Amino acid sequence: MQIIKTVKELRPIIQGWRREGLSVGLVPTMGYLHAGHKSLIVKAVSENDRVVVSDFVNPTQFGANEDLSTYPRDLERDAAVCEEAGAALIFHPEPEEMYFPDNCTFVDMDSLTKGLCGKTRPTHFRGVCTVVSKLFHIVTPDRAYFGQKDAQQLAVIRRMVRDLNFGISIVGCPIVREPDGLAMSSRNAYLNAEERKAALILHKSLAIGEKMLGDGERDAAKVREAIEKSLGTEPLAKVDYVELVDAETLEPVGRVERPILAALAVYIGKTRLIDNFTFAENAGCDKGETGCI
Ligand code: AMP
Repeated sequence: MQIIKTVKELRPIIQGWRREGLSVGLVPTMGYLHAGHKSLIVKAVSENDRVVVSDFVNPTQFGANEDLSTYPRDLERDAAVCEEAGAALIFHPEPEEMYFPDNCTFVDMDSLTKGLCGKTRPTHFRGVCTVVSKLFHIVTPDRAYFGQKDAQQLAVIRRMVRDLNFGISIVGCPIVREPDGLAMSSRNAYLNAEERKAALILHKSLAIGEKMLGDGERDAAKVREAIEKSLGTEPLAKVDYVELVDAETLEPVGRVERPILAALAVYIGKTRLIDNFTFAENAGCDKGETGCI
């Protein structure tokens, strides 16, 4: 497995694969890889001849007061995870390689990015759309893999690929959880022992909402209130948002009559964590197993 740091070195490698008629999968990540990332890489390896993992803490998707400088990094460990999962190459550029000092071109989206995480992170999805577009142009993959863990991001990327005719298949992958239910995240590394215990309230509260929907409740407000009430029982938790939205448009719903996404963001101490589930009337809750919408 190769670790490549520049676009100039990467392009001829991809062109070589193309000449051999090989298919290419891309897994975009910010590194500090865990079993959630690995599940995406393993799926990509099973569906493509060559898999590129991008490992890049993208500065444009962080707000001014967010954790860009402290975001955990460990390339050596990431390389071991990628190698074990069967990736062909890690693309690990420096920020200066990805952004010219006078970069002034961004990819932005009018809807889908304003609610949920977009409310507290107003420039986040502009950064995500821009870096993912750049990676799509650099790697020219046949397929790209994204986790349902970042459900809004997955919906945004699907829409961007449709609207801008990227011609790349977007594959959504289920949320991978710790044995006790906490959704895996690189940011879990910020939690101390007490916070780690408190963080279980996210999954526990979502499970209450899932059960209500499974039992036939269709009033979105009632489900949201029950989730919020449960979150309120944990003193270390501070709710950013709890929302039930249409799974495709991400518009809030009053009644659950179409596939919905129930999503939340909660601060545990200073760490902002997200989690979600999807529910479709006939299919039921995904329970984090199917994950793909
Ligand atoms: P990140 O490095 O956090 O930007 O994540 C890179 C990719 O891995 C994104 O598509 C995430 O949705 C996905 N991912 C992160 N955590 C998980 C998880 N627990 N289960 C499944 N996918 C995940």
